[in-house]
Amino acid sequence: MTAARPPEFPMFVSVEEARTMLAALLPTPETEWVGVGQAHGRTLAGPLAALVSHPSATESALDGIACRAADTLSASPSAPRRLQVIGESRAGVPFAAEVGPGQCIRIYTGAPMPAGADAIGPVEQLVDDGPEAVLLQRPASPADVRPEGGDFRAGEEVMPAGLLLTAPRVALAAALGHARIPVRRKLRVALLSTGDEVIEPGQPLLPGQVYDSNRIGLSAMLHDSGCEVLPLGHAPDSPAALQGAIDSIGGADLLLTSGGVSMGKYDFMRDLLIGQGRVSFWKVRMRPGGPALLGGWNGLPVFGLPGNPVSSLVVFHVIVRPALTGQPVQTLKLRAATPFRGIPDKMAFWRANIVGGEVHDYGKQGSGVLRSLSEAGALVVVPEGGGVAVGESVDVVLL
Ligand code: AMP
Ligand code: MG
Repeated sequence: MTAARPPEFPMFVSVEEARTMLAALLPTPETEWVGVGQAHGRTLAGPLAALVSHPSATESALDGIACRAADTLSASPSAPRRLQVIGESRAGVPFAAEVGPGQCIRIYTGAPMPAGADAIGPVEQLVDDGPEAVLLQRPASPADVRPEGGDFRAGEEVMPAGLLLTAPRVALAAALGHARIPVRRKLRVALLSTGDEVIEPGQPLLPGQVYDSNRIGLSAMLHDSGCEVLPLGHAPDSPAALQGAIDSIGGADLLLTSGGVSMGKYDFMRDLLIGQGRVSFWKVRMRPGGPALLGGWNGLPVFGLPGNPVSSLVVFHVIVRPALTGQPVQTLKLRAATPFRGIPDKMAFWRANIVGGEVHDYGKQGSGVLRSLSEAGALVVVPEGGGVAVGESVDVVLL
């Protein structure tokens, strides 16, 4: 009897190793300049400094009056402070003179503070006392004055390179005064789903067939990760069809495939990639998602995701996405409201729900239960061989 020859590539790598190996095969994207209105979802390629200060002048945070705080210290509903109104300041049209003792001006949110005044009396605390005076029923508050540059000062470096440009961050880039900003080129990812049983939604479904959910979900996740998707559609379980689809790719940075990398006779993606002799690893010590494979095809990195819908989307979330975006997987610590079991030599990502600040096991943990990814809001991470008891603090990935 002859012993089976050991494979010439690493098997059963850790989640961390898989992520690092994939990231090492991806190019460092060049910088391009885009309008700040087109930058949502992109990654900032260079730091952004403030071109102006915000606020650009010391201004009011409320609608009301601007006056001298010292004048109003004893104001109360039973003994309101009477102040003479000598003018107004509104956004864009400041008051030119100085506010003296016993005086105030009407002021509106975002309007510049006049000289002499250092506090705001909100409109809710004012009663008119004739056309040129008001009664203030509480002390005016210096805290409702926004100092010039209190948010950021001109010249200050506010946004570091590498930031993922979320909606609040593109708003900040605009507030800093940038019309165009440097972002990393979008990585181009070709996407192919495989499987004889996999068909398009809209077609009648025969017993044993399944609608192609992975291609839709993965395409959405790639867009969410700031990538450009090259859709290759779907290929049947035939080496020639798979090879034809891969050979048709032009100018991609990565090929992402779904299905056909497991242990079955018809898992031809696996055979084709192993045949190329460029396998970085096959199988990751994780559940769900074990059979992922990283290989190469004529210089193009190929990441083979398992076909099971949950495996495919979870592997994308914890390995492919961080490698593509350079952003670590975001986790938070929460208290476990139910136990979560550990698996020897595998990192487990159990679907869970967050209720009242605690995580609860979702229940059905099969890797084909796609519905769970919609109904469970989170993945509980249990390290290899670990296990989590009720009341313990656990790492949670938001979905
Ligand atoms: P495979 O990894 O090719 O062995 O497929 C594992 C399981 O995932 C099988 O039950 C497939 O029917 C299912 N599957 C494969 N590809 C897809 C897909 N694109 N969409 C939904 N389910 C799929
Ligand atoms: Mg298959």
